[in-house]
Amino acid sequence: MGMILAADIGGTTCKLGIFDETLSLIEKWEIDTDIADEGKYILSNVYEAFKSKEEKLEFKVEESLGAGIGMPGPVDFKNGILDGCINLNIRGKKSISSIFEGISGVRTIVDNDANVAALGEQFKGAGHGHSEVVMITLGTGVGGGVIADGRLIHGTGGSGGEIGHIPVDFAERFQCNCGKKGCLETVASATGMVNLAKFHHSQDFRDTVLSEEIKNNTVTSKSIVEAAMAGDHLGEFAVDEAARYLAMAMSNISVITNPGYFIFGGGVSEAGTFLTDKIKKYYTPLTFPPAAEDMEIVMAELGNDAGMYGAARLVRQYLM
Ligand SMILES: [Zn+2]
Repeated sequence: MGMILAADIGGTTCKLGIFDETLSLIEKWEIDTDIADEGKYILSNVYEAFKSKEEKLEFKVEESLGAGIGMPGPVDFKNGILDGCINLNIRGKKSISSIFEGISGVRTIVDNDANVAALGEQFKGAGHGHSEVVMITLGTGVGGGVIADGRLIHGTGGSGGEIGHIPVDFAERFQCNCGKKGCLETVASATGMVNLAKFHHSQDFRDTVLSEEIKNNTVTSKSIVEAAMAGDHLGEFAVDEAARYLAMAMSNISVITNPGYFIFGGGVSEAGTFLTDKIKKYYTPLTFPPAAEDMEIVMAELGNDAGMYGAARLVRQYLM
């Protein structure tokens, strides 16, 4: 039987999986990512890792049905090209799919890590296989993946689903990494919550347990959420404002793909229902009523395995 090979490549480790043709997981493990010499060993190490399982699993890598790879950088999905990646020490454009096909002899499909994680959660995790799912990852930035009719949205140049750059802060208070101001990422990520706490502290919320951390520039989204949960006014105001901006972005998305699930992942989502209850409070009155019906907010379930599942799913969708 032909196998499906899946790799979610990160700056520190690569999560690897071997699936059968029905997408049942046969084996999963991880290897270290060697980013030396502009990342030139990464793909050959992944190939060797798959080869090392041939005897145990009684299969041949070159007879596999396809390989799916998630990469932590901007990917031209149609052509399988990664456009540089600081975390992997890769500069300039690299044709990841051709390189891996050359090494392994296996047809290969490549997407960015946020997209493969969204697809993994959609089909194997919190999305329960629903055909309309949006994943929002709240980390240092705001990552996303939009799945419509069971497939990831990529768009013309790969910017489809980049929900972290939806404009929501019309006062344009904070600079975004993309060069613009006012993006969702500047007010709802870990960095965004820190932006809001610092801004309001300088305006009118001086009486807060966060004063010392703000003065010393050591305040984090975690300490802001903890302060909010303990009833601190600045903490509450910042989390509430972040929730309102998330609700605005979700409301916009809702009239485009009408998702059944919004899945939250990433460090900030560990605030759990404390955050999602606030989001719901704003989302429902803001949203076109039929689109708000039957929408559920859920937490990601697969953790670090999500990308590996999504990479396998891509093979099934595009190469089989
Ligand atoms: Zn932006």
